[in-house]
Amino acid sequence: MNTKFTRWDVEVISDLFNNRDKEFIYRIPISTTNVTDKWYWSKEVSETYSVKSAYKLIQDLKFPTGSPISTDFWKALWALKCPPTVKDMLWRFVSNCLPTCGSLVQRHVRISSSCPICNRGVETVTHFLVSCSFTAACWRSAGLYGGNPGDISFGEWLQDRFNNWELRERHMGGNALLGYLAR
Ligand SMILES: [Zn+2]
Repeated sequence: MNTKFTRWDVEVISDLFNNRDKEFIYRIPISTTNVTDKWYWSKEVSETYSVKSAYKLIQDLKFPTGSPISTDFWKALWALKCPPTVKDMLWRFVSNCLPTCGSLVQRHVRISSSCPICNRGVETVTHFLVSCSFTAACWRSAGLYGGNPGDISFGEWLQDRFNNWELRERHMGGNALLGYLAR
């Protein structure tokens, strides 16, 4: 760019870019003021990045207004007296971030979508953590199962469980998930 005349340097652009890219570049509007460019974080009034505002941004993108997962549920989850690793894993489960067989097949990975443990359904997060024969037996033996989750997401299931469990049972449930994964 020719900063003196606030216009694109046609000679330089012609030397460096093909016709397609040149077109894209010329479409970029050039500021007529002499303000220096700077980096800033638009999610904070101070324009400085914070983990808190980044978390809120991700939550808003993943769970927009009207999502079945409520803010109260997240508060209850972060308030659990569990190691941070457990809470991090719970967040991943509820956000559906696990590479289950079902999600890998949706991303065109050539594997079977069936659960490798029971072979009785598509391995989703809900199946893996709630309705698979082994995990369902674990939840039942701990007295925390609450019935077949059907087609609801793991987050909705856990939220429903949180609404029915006492605080002690929430801690038990969170730590039981970690114990299951560490097995
Ligand atoms: Zn299974």
